[in-house]
Parts: sequence; structure tokens; C-alpha cells
Amino acid sequence: MTKINKQDRFWETIPFDQLDQKQWESLCDGCGQCCAHKLQDDETEEVFLTNVVCQYLDHQTCHCSVYENRHQYVPDCIKITPENAKTLNWIPETCAYRLVANGKPLPEWHPLVVGDRASTKQANMTILNKVISEEDVEMDDLEDYLVEDDYFSHLLVKIGAK
Ligand code: SF4
Ligand code: SF4
Repeated sequence: MTKINKQDRFWETIPFDQLDQKQWESLCDGCGQCCAHKLQDDETEEVFLTNVVCQYLDHQTCHCSVYENRHQYVPDCIKITPENAKTLNWIPETCAYRLVANGKPLPEWHPLVVGDRASTKQANMTILNKVISEEDVEMDDLEDYLVEDDYFSHLLVKIGAK
């Protein structure tokens, strides 16, 4: 397997907000966490996690199956940007965008570090096997699928965040 050369570790040398589109997209490790539905309290704006995921999350690869045209299918699929990566309160601590935005290193299993797009799944760092597709639940009952904030804590342990 080909490792990416040190000089190619652009995320460590180029300012976060100056990455080109390809570099930016490649930061996503494909963990799938951001594709889990959340519920927000109308009054407090507190966000609660569920273990139900968007129907377009591919359960083999943990990648979005409609990524290029995703906003046609899911208009409220929020695009993570250099501006909101630090502030969106529902982005998980382990998200590569949040890590880099906060000056933290990418984990050793990250696709850019390993040089293999499938490395996240191979390292068991995806949400696969812990989630249900929205196609298999009644979305009016989403509250029945609320989980604790640390539901995906296997990911936190493996990046050394806990
Ligand atoms: S949480 Fe971050 S790293 Fe994981 S799939 Fe979403 S954008 Fe990519
Ligand atoms: S459209 Fe794609 S990126 Fe957006 S929530 Fe669904 S699976 Fe995730």
C-alpha cells in the first residue's frame, strides 16, 4: 500500500481555508457520522443524535451514493466549509475537518495518511453496523432512535480523543 509522502501532507502545510476543492474533499475520511439524523430542540437548539442514517449512505462503502448531486436528493444535507467546520455543533470531534480546523493531526488510519480511500472502513472507523437506514424506519418515530452523544465512541477511542 502506498503511503503519501511527507511533502504531500498538504493539510499540515496549507492553511485550512486555502485548500483547493480536491484537497478539501479528500479530507473527509468517510466515517459516515455526519449522515446520521439529528433532532434539534426548537427552544434550546440542543442537538440530539440518532442511529438512523440518510438513505443515500452506501452501507458497503460508507460513502454517499449520490455525492455530486446530493443536494438534489437531500436539500438540507449541510456542506461543511472552512467557515463552519469549527462552529457547527453537531460535527463529531473525530471529523477530519474538525481535527484539521483545530490544528490537530489526522489519525494514522485516515485515507490521506494510509494512501487508500478504503482505509477508514478497513480500520473499522465507520458507523457501519451501528446504524439503521431511514428506509427501514418510520421517520415520524425518529425520537425512538435517539442515542447517547457517545454512541460512536469506538471512533473516539481509536483516535486517542478519550
Ligand atoms: S463526520 Fe466528517 S469525516 Fe466523517 S463523513 Fe462526515 S464530513 Fe467526513
Ligand atoms: S446526501 Fe449523502 S452526504 Fe448527505 S446526508 Fe445523505 S448520505 Fe450523507
